[in-house]
Amino acid sequence: MSQLGMGVMSHSSMKVPADPYADFVPHPRFGRGPRRTGLDPANTPDGSVFLHWHSGPEVRVPGTAIAANTTDQCQATVPVTHYFDARRVCRQCARPFLFFAEEQKHWYEELKFPLEADCLECVPCRKAEQRLQAAQRRYASLLGHPQRSVAETLELVECGVFLVEAGVFSKKSLPKLLGLLKAVGAAPGSAHHEQALVLRARVVAAEVR
Ligand SMILES: [Zn+2]
Repeated sequence: MSQLGMGVMSHSSMKVPADPYADFVPHPRFGRGPRRTGLDPANTPDGSVFLHWHSGPEVRVPGTAIAANTTDQCQATVPVTHYFDARRVCRQCARPFLFFAEEQKHWYEELKFPLEADCLECVPCRKAEQRLQAAQRRYASLLGHPQRSVAETLELVECGVFLVEAGVFSKKSLPKLLGLLKAVGAAPGSAHHEQALVLRARVVAAEVR
């Protein structure tokens, strides 16, 4: 897909207009491009139609509106009556993506996020961030564990090396991880020998990166 996209971009004389959403990060549930509903309301002075300020005219995709259930939103001075698919640029990877109307409905009505909450990162970046946070929590909890099993120490090392690879921990953590592996002493033939070898190779590779 990405190769096709690059090919289209390099031929400026192409007659078929390129898909404007070809470079957008796909959402695992809603896909890449906008979901047209044909609904296109505009703000009214009496507030009976009030569009979200996160979906200003410069970012909203016309004809993608869905109606909100204002009673399910967190209380606001003026409830938002409709959501639109809105264009965003991910602050992590700088790629464009859509903050979908249905996603907004889920955020503001089911998850009860305040209307101020905005979506600033694409799904893959949000997922990666969650994985990093989970690894940090797990690392801290295993590190403080007074009597770790061999399996738990290996998991601790795995979290540590993952966090070094991701640039969250500095390389200064690596000797400590090697020390933990050595202390485990997963001898040849023991249940954890192979896993310890793989982890040791990862720690060494992270050192030279
Ligand atoms: Zn991103």
